[in-house]
This record gives sequence, C-alpha cells and structure tokens, in this order.
Amino acid sequence: EDTILEVKDLRTHFFTDEGVAAAVDGVSFSLSRGKTLGIVGESGCGKSVTSLSILRLVEEPAGKIIGGEIIFKDQDLLKLSEEEMRDIRGNEISMIFQEPMTSLNPVFTVGDQIAEVLRLHQGLSKNDAIQKSIEMLRLVGIPLPERRVQEYPHQLSGGMRQRVMIAMALSCNPALLIADEPTTALDVTIQAQILELMKDLKDKLGTAIMMITHDLGVVAEVADEVMIMYAGKVVEHGPVQAVFSNPLHPYTEGLMNSIPDITLDLEALETIEGLVPSIYAMPKGCRFHPRCKYAMDICKDTQPGLVSHEDRKVRCFRYSPITEEAGK
Ligand code: SF4
Ligand code: MG
Repeated sequence: EDTILEVKDLRTHFFTDEGVAAAVDGVSFSLSRGKTLGIVGESGCGKSVTSLSILRLVEEPAGKIIGGEIIFKDQDLLKLSEEEMRDIRGNEISMIFQEPMTSLNPVFTVGDQIAEVLRLHQGLSKNDAIQKSIEMLRLVGIPLPERRVQEYPHQLSGGMRQRVMIAMALSCNPALLIADEPTTALDVTIQAQILELMKDLKDKLGTAIMMITHDLGVVAEVADEVMIMYAGKVVEHGPVQAVFSNPLHPYTEGLMNSIPDITLDLEALETIEGLVPSIYAMPKGCRFHPRCKYAMDICKDTQPGLVSHEDRKVRCFRYSPITEEAGK
C-alpha cells in the first residue's frame, strides 16, 4: 500500500461560551498516492474542520486539536513546529477552496502569485518561477498562458480563476491536494470542466486528493472512495461504486435518496427528515437516531462503533454486534 496520509482518531474540539463542540470526534482514515477520497456530509458534519486540522489551520484559540495522529509521509504533523508546518503547507500539501477570488490577491498578477509560491518553496529565481508559472497555466488548460500570467485576477472568469488556483496549488507538485467545495461557486458546465481537469492532473501527477463536498454528483464523478460524515463522526467509508449502489448506513441511504433525479418529478424527492443536531447538544446514543427510520431501543442510549462490513466500514447497529464502544 502506497499510503500517503493516515489520520488516526483525530479529535478537534471548539471551546466556546456556548459549550464544547466536538466538531471532529474520533475520525480515522487513510489515503493512498494517486487516489481521490470524497468526504461528504451536510454542513457542520466536520468535513471542513477535518481538512483544516490536517493543515493545522483550525481557528485558535477556540478550536483545538485535542487528540489523534496525522501521519503524512511517516511523520506526525501534530508533532511538527509551526515553522515546519509552514514548509509543508502549499508545498507538500496544498489546498483549494470554493471561492478563488478570496484566495487570490487582487493587487498582484496571476504570474506573480504563482511565482511567489515557487520562489518560497522551491527557491526558484524570479525568471525561472515565471517560466514555470506559464507552464502551470498551460497544464491547467488556460489559453495564451504567456499573456495570462500578466493579468490580474479580476480580468479572469470564475472558471479561469479556479484553474489558476489549481495551477498554484499544484505548482510545487504536492503529494496531497485538499479541495474544499472547489466547484460549488461555478456553473454546471465549468464545474464539469474543472472536475475533468482535476482527474487528468491526478492521473498525470499522482497527487492524492481529498475532495470535500456536499455534492454527491461531484463524488461520483471524481472519487475512488467516499467517506460519509455525520455529527463529527465517520458513519460509512468504502469504494464509491459500492456505496452508491448499496448504501449501508441509514444516513447514506437518505443522502442517496435526496440526489435529484431529472427523470423524476421534483415533488417525488425524498429528503431526510429532521435537522443535523447542534454540535453543542449531541443526542445520546447513535447521533443519527432522532432522524433514523430504523432506530431501535439500543440506538437511543448506546453509541455504535465503526466496524468493517464486507467492502467497507459502517457505524450502525444494523451491521454490528451490539457492544458499547467506550468513550468513542
Ligand atoms: Fe439508525 Fe440505530 Fe443505525 Fe443509528 S445505529 S443509524 S439509529 S439503526
Ligand atoms: Mg465546508
């Protein structure tokens, strides 16, 4: 196994006036070179906090990683100094976000911004860095890259800006790319092009990708594996095809049923009833039980563990012997 990232029992909590929120509560998974893992869930499920924890960018002082390990290339990121971490960010692990306009600096040209990353992390000269920036823009399918490097972010369309972000994120050839809702702000056609581009680049460069999204269509398009999160915990994790064709966890099943099917009348859309619990007041027992149509008595006071079941992992008493998973 060519494992590049191994997250073990990660716990990231927020300490606020309203109480302690276990935003990420014992999350474990691993990711191999050249693979794409889709992380899915409703907002507040902990998917973004998981990715920010890996980069050690959780907002302090409220947010704190209180336990676990994040093994990246055989070192525990949680044990590195802030300076060592700065070296890894944007270099060995890069991130792209939903809205490129907020990540690109409006007062510098696109070329200068990519070149800056290359000079910082790769020690390239200004000239070499600009040359490499042009190459990167070409790689992400931006026409006339020699001219585009001299342009400012506002001169580009949303789709082109996201391509620039991808070029910047990949310029140092990172082993891991974390993409948090990278196509959400784009229209459907551009979204499809960007996803296609990411797939191509992954194959070409062997980058491992963590794709964080609330959109199951995006996962179906690009991911090899999918991990479903609910209320700070992983509830199901397995190969994309398998999970889509036969979801095991009742929450996953609900998500699958809520995918709009254009052949169906919109009225026929099934949605999961109820609300995501507040992270300050998690229900006792299985966190999904107030919304679960299969809930049994045991589910109300005992928390199910994450267990292996056939080709995947699932956290539900329908698939596991009923034993308490102490403290998890
Ligand atoms: Fe539903 Fe019980 Fe499974 Fe939770 S453990 S998802 S409440 S059946
Ligand atoms: Mg998010």
